[in-house]
Amino acid sequence: MIPPHSPPLASPALRQWEEQGELLLPLTFLLLVLGSLLLYLAVSLMDPGYVNVLLQPQEEAKEEQTAMVPQAIPLRRCRYCMVLQPLRARHCRECRRCVRRYDHHCPWMENCVGERNHPLFVAYLALQLVVLLWGLYLAWSGLRFFRPWGLWLRSSGLLFATFLLLSLFSLVASLLLASHLYLVASNTTTWEFISSHRIAYLRQRPGNPFDRGLTRNLAHFFCGWPSGSWETLWAEEEEGSSQDV
Ligand SMILES: [Zn+2]
Ligand SMILES: [Zn+2]
Repeated sequence: MIPPHSPPLASPALRQWEEQGELLLPLTFLLLVLGSLLLYLAVSLMDPGYVNVLLQPQEEAKEEQTAMVPQAIPLRRCRYCMVLQPLRARHCRECRRCVRRYDHHCPWMENCVGERNHPLFVAYLALQLVVLLWGLYLAWSGLRFFRPWGLWLRSSGLLFATFLLLSLFSLVASLLLASHLYLVASNTTTWEFISSHRIAYLRQRPGNPFDRGLTRNLAHFFCGWPSGSWETLWAEEEEGSSQDV
């Protein structure tokens, strides 16, 4: 029963759910919105994988030696924060830190996307896309086109503008999610993808030395398995390619 002072529900879909007493779908929608908000906060507030300054330089250098880093790729010292950069790390000028398995600095998150928060970032994109597409459906179901257009604009202009805005956001989220799924599936990063010609450890190889195949790439990205450092993987690839020759 709708109280007499309640505002009318704009969307026929929402009104239908209310009349049928079905609140499961609106509740699910709210939970998805809440989930995407929590993921946004987690990605933007968490440590993206900063290189540990306290382990620098002796301890980390030992770590790298035990990982059998090939001499052909000497680890670089960051010229901004002076830490020894593990393979695939990069300095972020906005964060003023070096980030492990650096992907990109996200202005929307105001944080780097790196080794630790990249899986959550992809989950955030996926959930956000579901919310946006659902919102798009709700906005579309509330739109009715009629003449005169002046009257239509006054009654439905705001809803139509919302629809256009949601369409734009959905397109951006779709493209971002598709590109990140591609990067994850091939075990590369945005930075490595766009700047492979400038990166020493990629310049020496014809292919991607970190690509272990779709299943293992996905398993490592989302579950951390199989474990092992990038340096070890690089060295194994080096051995494999030299045996092939
Ligand atoms: Zn740095
Ligand atoms: Zn950053």
